[in-house]
Amino acid sequence: MTQPSLSFEIFPPNTQVGEEKLLTTLNELEGLAPDYISVTCSNNKRNIEATTLKVAGHVKSLGIPTIAHLPACYLTKEQVNEIIQQLDSLGIYRVLALRGDIDPLIPPTEDFTYASDLISYIKEIAPHFEITGACYPEVHPESVNHVADVLHLREKVNQGCEHLITQLFFDNDIFYRFQESCQLAGIDVPITPGIMPIINRKQALRIINTASASLPKKFLAILDKYEHNPIALRDAGLAYAVDQIVDLVTQDAPGIHLYTMNQSATARQIYQATASLFEKPIPLLVEEG
Ligand code: FAD
Repeated sequence: MTQPSLSFEIFPPNTQVGEEKLLTTLNELEGLAPDYISVTCSNNKRNIEATTLKVAGHVKSLGIPTIAHLPACYLTKEQVNEIIQQLDSLGIYRVLALRGDIDPLIPPTEDFTYASDLISYIKEIAPHFEITGACYPEVHPESVNHVADVLHLREKVNQGCEHLITQLFFDNDIFYRFQESCQLAGIDVPITPGIMPIINRKQALRIINTASASLPKKFLAILDKYEHNPIALRDAGLAYAVDQIVDLVTQDAPGIHLYTMNQSATARQIYQATASLFEKPIPLLVEEG
């Protein structure tokens, strides 16, 4: 069995200050030797060159394999073609192909109704690209039910998606049930769990609302008990994420994708606590500034 991967997600900042901070974060993450870093992308072509492509190019220049996220519901085929060519010229051949969220006030273009349309298009214009897709252990919010969602996921794989990364979740049993459904549906590509360490209450509530994740009693107890103790909440949130990761890797998950929220200290602490599970060198302890 191959060793599990440990990867990070980062997002491009939207200010000059944020950009400088991200470069520092990236240098710190580089020392952790992740298997890859994925770079998110806002859901329109505006600024994609100045954001995702620029950051992904920087990650690549550090020698770290990179996946560029590409939500396409507001893009045309010509625009996707252009972006794929730019990625190609940067030497980035891995894409997380997404439909993206549809704003009810802005009609999408007609070229990419679903992520599966984007996947088949990229495979047609750039067959050497390796395509990852998104998946939802707790069902995509627009889906009529779990069965329909898994069948649509199978279509992404049929169109050439070679790897899946999940939406964040806090209850590993939900992931295991989802894995079983995928197996029953004949989805045989690796499904990497996405884990988000919760380090403060505000972040917890925002994420929980947007990702509509189920919250186990154990997790809610942490949020309640340490509501007014941010340091304890952070420690408990990190320990909770480490506990999830240990369980997932022990049960043979193909890897862990860590939603870092651009927080290198969080990534480092989790890495430090779990490096041996991924057969990675244990980095030297660095004092927090
Ligand atoms: P799809 O796979 O197209 O699915 C969307 C919905 O359509 C689902 O309900 C599905 O069941 C349904 N569906 C699919 N095919 C069919 C069909 N043939 N007929 C009928 N229904 C169908 N968003 C961003 O804007 N930027 C990012 O960088 C980003 N990164 C993400 C990373 C991960 C790991 C995840 C899990 C999500 C990410 N998202 C990102 C969010 C994502 O864009 C939204 O969840 C979006 O609403 C769905 O995108 P998708 O690619 O999963 O869509």
